[in-house]
This record gives sequence, structure tokens and C-alpha cells, in this order.
Amino acid sequence: MFETAGKSLDPTDWTAFRIQAHKMLDDMLDYTEGLNARDVWQPMPDDVQAHLRSSLTEKNLVETHADFMQNILPYAVGNAHPRFVGWVHGGGTPVGMMAEMLAAGLNANLGGRNQAPVEIERQVMRWVRDLFGFPATASGLFVTGTSMANLIGCLCAKTKFLGTETRQIGLQNFPKLTAYTSTAAHISVAQALDISGIGTNALRKIPVNANYEINVFALEQAIIADKQAGKTPFLVVATVGTVDVGAIDDLQKIAVLCQREKIWFHIDGAFGALAMLAPEIAPRLAGIELADSIAFDFHKWGQVPYDAGFVLVRDSDIHQKTFASPAAYLQRQERGLSANSPWACDLGLDLSRGFRALKTWFTLSVYGNEKLGQVVAHTCELAQYLKQRIEATPELELLAPVALNIVCFRYRCEDANRVNTELVIQLQESGIVAPSSTTLNGNVAIRAAIVNHRTTENDIDILLATTLKFGNALTLNNTL
Ligand SMILES: *Cc1c(COP(=O)(O)O)cnc(C)c1O
Repeated sequence: MFETAGKSLDPTDWTAFRIQAHKMLDDMLDYTEGLNARDVWQPMPDDVQAHLRSSLTEKNLVETHADFMQNILPYAVGNAHPRFVGWVHGGGTPVGMMAEMLAAGLNANLGGRNQAPVEIERQVMRWVRDLFGFPATASGLFVTGTSMANLIGCLCAKTKFLGTETRQIGLQNFPKLTAYTSTAAHISVAQALDISGIGTNALRKIPVNANYEINVFALEQAIIADKQAGKTPFLVVATVGTVDVGAIDDLQKIAVLCQREKIWFHIDGAFGALAMLAPEIAPRLAGIELADSIAFDFHKWGQVPYDAGFVLVRDSDIHQKTFASPAAYLQRQERGLSANSPWACDLGLDLSRGFRALKTWFTLSVYGNEKLGQVVAHTCELAQYLKQRIEATPELELLAPVALNIVCFRYRCEDANRVNTELVIQLQESGIVAPSSTTLNGNVAIRAAIVNHRTTENDIDILLATTLKFGNALTLNNTL
């Protein structure tokens, strides 16, 4: 079955292929429709693991798909499931899934050139620009995720301070740059300093207040002290939605400080930036429109299937100077396929790029800003509901303020760190619900990040009931 035509990889029998293709689509729709009845996650059994670790074997399409259904699909992380509340993972949507199929069929390469897919990416960029109140001079593009987007922000900031010369001579003449972020910042901020060659020693980790927001006064003092010591503060990275607890830094104050001190103001808004879609939350992000660059993910709160990160840069001139390179085969023309500058390869590290814009464009088009904003607001309401239930339950203890959609708590007991670590693992292994754990001020927390549009109040009730049940069993029988 599924002979190919000569040297081509296309089938000879398109009718048979079509039937199989429809079955594959139906299987995935069945999976999505039936998510609630499945385990959130289950560990790979030994035989499955052994099978997957053996060498790749050749099989026909029907057999290969059967292998997928049996050995791959049941053992993914489970973030499509309504009771996945571990880490900040989006749930995906059937619309996004279908759009991804269309993009794969078109097999567009979004590195550049004169083609409609590039216009779709630009259309999404203008939507992003409007959402964040950026001027028409801004530019932006899809990247893998916020880790890459943070790196691009950092590199643009470097260009602003040092010009393009360092692209040839490196940083050896410029040892004095310093950057600032809070102790609650994501690891990719330090990584951006690392990869850009500036080095993580140049990154000052400013303390946070009781709400896990950067202490702006301490930030200001650090900048002043570095200037007095002959350093060149060049970059402040604020966070909208810290990874542990979802805190929002005071963007307005930081913007004023950065303007006064002439420092590049980058925002890591990986999941939190899309809170701009929810009218009841957006005012808390005031000042976002003053940033020099913003990094965020459509694949988290935006529910677009992985991966779909985005970076927006206020000054497209600096953005292009940071990445554009002359290469003979990438030369531009006025007409033909080589027209339509600037290309994405002038704005980022990748030359060959998939059509991430299409699944995002479909998501924005089909669901619309209002509906997507309601998803954001609803997950925050669920977080408040969970918080209230925790506060009303004597066995449980809230460990951090709940600013957005992340709730950190623990089961109260002796030896709490050990018990809560084990409790989270047992919850995950039960297949009933999957939170993650983190450590806050030395305390191990059960961390529920409510991101998925499918999650309901009933799922939160199940999370609570199962946590209590497992917590009681662990402490009563002292089974550790
Ligand atoms: C998820 C996250 C990142 C990293 O984003 P990726 O898309 O995983 O690269 C960075 N910062 C914060 C605050 C995040 O939540």
C-alpha cells in the first residue's frame, strides 16, 4: 500500500492516501474531543520506552500512524488536557491544528521573498503593534519562543549602544556593559547575555518586593552605582508574568527610569503580555507601550499550537542593523521573487523559517480578540477561585500572592518540602491532574499555572480534592 510514483515521494494511489489521511485527521479530532476522559499524563511503560529507544525501522504509512497512536500520542506531556496546570503551557486549539496542516501542505519558507505568506506574518505583526500601542516604525517577527525573542531584544540593545561595529570586531573593546533584571526573571534573560557575548557577570539581579515585583528603587541605585564605577548600563529587562508566581513589574516606573538613564527597555512578557487582550487586566500592564522591545509567546496564553514566539522592536532601523547581512544569493530586486524587502532574515537569526504566522493568523481571525481575552480573564478568575479555596482549607497554605493565573501553595505538614515534592510527583503519576513544583524562599510549592482554555472550575475542584486526598495519605501513613 502507498506505492510512490517513480522517484517522487507522492503516492500513486491518491484515493487510498486520501482515505488514510482523513482517518489520521479523525483520530486527532477524536483525541481532542475526548481529552477530558483521558489521563493527563502517564509515564511511558518499559516496553514502550524500549520500543522508542530501538533503531528507527521502515514501515508503511498505516503502520507508522498506528505506531504513533499506540506509542507516542498517549505519552506526551499532556498540556492539551484541561487538568494540566504544570508549567505555563498553552492548550492548543483544533483551529490551530488545522492551520498547521495547511501550512505544512503549502510548505512555505518564510525567510523572505515576494509571497503572500510574508504578508500574513506582517499582518500579524501590525496586530501585535496595535495591541501594545507601538508606533508604525516598529518591526517584529515570529521566532521559536520567548527565549529567542529575549536574545533578539538583547542584541538590538547592544546595537543601540555600540553600533554595528561589534558585529565585525566582537566585544573585546567593550567590557563595560551592564544589564538589569529581577531575581524572579526567567533563565533565558541570563542566557541572552551569555549567548550575545556580553556575559552573565554583566547581569545585575535586582531584588523583588513581597509581590515578587522588581524593587525599582534598588534598580535605580544599582544603575547609579554602576555609572559611578564607569560602567555602561545598556539594558533593563522587566517581566510581565514572572515564571514562578505571575508577578508584573512596574512598567511605568521602569520606563521613566530607562528614559532618564537612556537605557534600552526590554519586556519579557512570555505569557503575561497577552493579558493586554483582557480589558479588565490590561490597565495593570500600563507602560508596556513605552518599551523598546517586547518578547512574548502566542503558544502560551494565545493558545496557538507550539511553537509561536514573537519579538516586537520599536525601532525597525536598529532591528535591521542588528541582523541584516549582505549575501549574493539573498540580493533584492524590484520585481520577481526577490522583491519585498525587508525579509525576516534581516530581522532575526533564522534564514529558513516555517509558516508560524498562519496558525496564529487563523487563531486571531477565527476566535477574535474578545474571545481570546475572555480566555485570559477566565484563567485568572479560576486562579482567584483556587486561591480562595486554599485559604478556606486548613490543610493548605498559600505561598505567594496571585497576580494573574499562577497559584503557589502547599500541603501543611512536618517535613513539608519532602512531602510536597512527593505529592506533586504522585499527582502527576495519578493521571488525574498535573501541577508542577517550584521553590519559593526555600519552601517547596505546588504550582498551578492555569493557562488552558479548556480548564473549568470543576477541574480546579478535582485538583484540590486530589491534593487533599494524596496529602492526607502521605502524612497519615507516613509512607515517605
Ligand atoms: C515561558 C517563559 C519564557 C521562555 O519562553 P519559551 O517560549 O519557552 O522560550 C521566558 N520567560 C517567561 C516569563 C516565561 O514564562
